[in-house]
Amino acid sequence: MGLVSLTGIVLSSSDVGEFDKRLVLLTKEDGRVTAFAKGARRPNNPLVAACSPFCFGTFEAYQGRNSYHISKANISNYFRDLVTDYEKVCLGSYFLEVADFLSVEGVDERVRLGLLYQSLKALESGKFSLRLLRNIYDLKTWVIDGEYPNVFSCMGCGKKENLKVFSIKKHGMLCGDCAKDESGTEISNSTLFTMQYIVSSKLDKLYTFVLNKETEEEFTRILAAYRLNYRAHKYKSEEFL
Ligand SMILES: [Zn+2]
Repeated sequence: MGLVSLTGIVLSSSDVGEFDKRLVLLTKEDGRVTAFAKGARRPNNPLVAACSPFCFGTFEAYQGRNSYHISKANISNYFRDLVTDYEKVCLGSYFLEVADFLSVEGVDERVRLGLLYQSLKALESGKFSLRLLRNIYDLKTWVIDGEYPNVFSCMGCGKKENLKVFSIKKHGMLCGDCAKDESGTEISNSTLFTMQYIVSSKLDKLYTFVLNKETEEEFTRILAAYRLNYRAHKYKSEEFL
């Protein structure tokens, strides 16, 4: 068993045995991994504070065949302002659960980790409405997984201009001409631009805007319909949103 250093975030934590914890971490080096923290429930154990969901930092661990055994942790962000606010914890828990459900062991998950980190920072900042945060996080997650609506060209004819209508059935936009033969929802240019921005934006530029009430409502309706039709997995944490 070799000693390695993993940088990442605790997605979930559960009790095992009398004094130990089992963690699921999303890491830069090895994607999603399972890690055990021996003695992490003993009072005064240095790992106690590092083994809670949202803890982000560096974990020194011995690599076993199917899991890691943590020996030391250096937490750089506990997201303390987030975990003390009930509404933020609920949405943050949803972010963690989605990342846990969609990430795969042994796969490079650096982009997903980056999205999760930026989203938790934005949530903690209090500068964004909760529904805008959820919409941005979900849409960008779908982009990472390659299953997102086409908002750059018409799903009927491929034209890039005059995009007017969002079609759930066609997985994306339709131009004014093609929309005559298909059902869909007419959307404003600001909602279209918002979706284009989120799909193409770099992670560190993702949370740099807010929307007026009308656009935010329209964007929320479109994403809710898309979620219902194509991403219907029920997350436990959704009940609290
Ligand atoms: Zn068209």
